Amino acid sequence: MENKEVLFSIEHLKKYFNVGRDAVLKAVDDVSFEIYKGETLGMVGESGCGKTTCGRTTIGLYDKTDGKVLFKGKDVHAMTAKEKFEFKKNVQMVFQDPYSSLNPRMTVADIIGEGIDIHKLAKNKEERQQMIYKYLELVGLNKEHANRFVHEFSGGQRQRIGIARALAVQPEFMVLDEPISALDVSIQAQIVNLLIDLQKKMGLTYLFVAHDLSMVKHISDRVAVLYLGTLVELTTSEELYKNPNHPYTKALLSAIPIPDPKIEAQNDKNKIRLQGEVPSPINTKAGCKFAGRCQYAIDICEKQMPQLKDIGNNHFVACHLCSGDIK
Ligand code: SF4
Repeated sequence: MENKEVLFSIEHLKKYFNVGRDAVLKAVDDVSFEIYKGETLGMVGESGCGKTTCGRTTIGLYDKTDGKVLFKGKDVHAMTAKEKFEFKKNVQMVFQDPYSSLNPRMTVADIIGEGIDIHKLAKNKEERQQMIYKYLELVGLNKEHANRFVHEFSGGQRQRIGIARALAVQPEFMVLDEPISALDVSIQAQIVNLLIDLQKKMGLTYLFVAHDLSMVKHISDRVAVLYLGTLVELTTSEELYKNPNHPYTKALLSAIPIPDPKIEAQNDKNKIRLQGEVPSPINTKAGCKFAGRCQYAIDICEKQMPQLKDIGNNHFVACHLCSGDIK
């Protein structure tokens, strides 16, 4: 990874929300990582762990509280209007819910054409139309779909329209915010395969946000595991599945069901079950945020926040026990 071109550099990023008198919700709390050109970085964690907020703050949809996000060396939160306009073309988002993220009053052609118009990417009407057909075909639909409305499509087809809309402005980078979790299991693999195919064809870079690790391993080059706004483990997909270190990652991996019911039943007794819900991210205490649910917690865990440390083999972990803090 060392020689790869860095597209995004996220440095000590914090995004806090004031949620009442003296109450601060730390959605993203001092997170640092890089996204390399051409890769898929998976970002996983239970709902409420800050992964969507992290994705949105990375592409400037939210202001930051502190830290820095650099896109090709440029500060995303300090761009001029002209730079921001260009940046918005380069980065796109595909949303979790294809039912509510597409305007029901617009035809598919107009949904896809909107970005083409805003960024003046077509010389004339004919070219605009040909571009719309091209993007429909790229996502597995066809020109007959162009003049229909979104309610005429299935969930999987709507997500394909959402992807075509994002592609139409010719972005370099896409945040895929749980793009398959609202879809039937039978459709999920089709959408993931489509995204993999499009990445190869168009040289795209993805941040793939998901709440479990099952699909992430098929699509990601590296995986970042988030817990309560902090990064607890970051490594290549292969290394994470072979050698998970953080107790939270181990629990997430252990929760992935095995498709064979017999093996799943045998495996059931070995599963690591997380105790309790994710604690509130409001006014969090000092120490490791996972301490209240961790079966390995020791004294220091309650007092001192573990830092993300390099344990070799492009593998970073934030845990006192895993990163050599305790001898
Ligand atoms: Fe568990 Fe302590 Fe590691 Fe946190 S730092 S994950 S509480 S062992």
